[in-house]
Amino acid sequence: MKVALFGHRGRVGSVLAPALTAAGHEVLGIGRGEEVELAGIDAAVDFTQPDAASDNARAALEQGVPVVVGTSGLDGAELEELDALALARSLQLLVVPNFAIGAVLMMRFAEAGAEYLPRTEIVELHHEGKKDAPSGTARATAERLPGEPPIHSVRLPGLVAHQEVLLGGEGQLLTIRHDTFSREAFVPGVLLALEKLATLPPGLTVGLERLLESP
Ligand code: NAP
Repeated sequence: MKVALFGHRGRVGSVLAPALTAAGHEVLGIGRGEEVELAGIDAAVDFTQPDAASDNARAALEQGVPVVVGTSGLDGAELEELDALALARSLQLLVVPNFAIGAVLMMRFAEAGAEYLPRTEIVELHHEGKKDAPSGTARATAERLPGEPPIHSVRLPGLVAHQEVLLGGEGQLLTIRHDTFSREAFVPGVLLALEKLATLPPGLTVGLERLLESP
C-alpha cells in the first residue's frame, strides 16, 4: 500500500516508517507544517500530537483517504466530527488507543476480572515526553470497567508505556500489568490495521479488537 505517515520523525514514527517499508509498503512521511498532498495514497496513519491529529485526519478524509489514528488525546467532539466526515465520504476511520497486542489483552482480562472484582483502579506510567494524561489506553480501559475507576498517571524518565489495572476484593488484590519496553511493540498492530482497514465499515471504529477477531 501507499501509506502517508503523519509524524514520521517522532518517537513512534521513526520506528514505524522503516518497519512499514520493510513490510512492503511505500511510505510518504509528512512532518509538522509540511504539505498534505495525498493523491494516489491508499491510507494515512497518524502518530503526532493531540492538537494536530484531528486536522491531519480531516485533511486525509477530505482527500478521500481512509485513516488510522494512533495519536491519543482526541476528545469526543473531535471524534464525532471526524466520524460524520468519514461516513459522508464512505471512508474508514480507525482510532486505536493501543497497538500493542499485550495491552489489548490487558484490557480484555481486566474487563473479565471486574465481573468478580468490580472495585478497580488504573495506574498508567509513561515517559516524561508524553503530552496527554491520562493516557488513551487508560481511558479506554476505564470505559470497559464498572463505575468510574480512578486513573493515576505517572510521568518519569526511563519509562516507555506501562499500565496496571488493580482489582481489589476483601483480603485480596489482582494486578494485571502490561509493559511496553520499546516502540517495536506497536508495529504488528499498525500492519494489521492497514491490512484489515478496507474490511471495516465506513465511519469510526475504535480499537484493534474487532480486527483481531475478523478472519
Ligand atoms: P513525538 O515523539 O512527540 O512525535 C510526534 C511527531 O509528530 C513529531 O515528529 C512532531 O513534529 C510531529 N508533528 C507534530 N505536529 C504535526 C503535524 N501537524 N503534522 C505532522 N507531524 C506533526 O510523539 P510519539 O511518542 O511518537 O507519540 C505520538 C502520539 O502517539 C502520541 O499522542 C502518543 O500518545 C501516541 N502513541 C500511541 C500509541 C498507540 O499504540 N496508539 C503508542 C505510542 C504512542 P515536531 O517534532 O516538529 O513537533
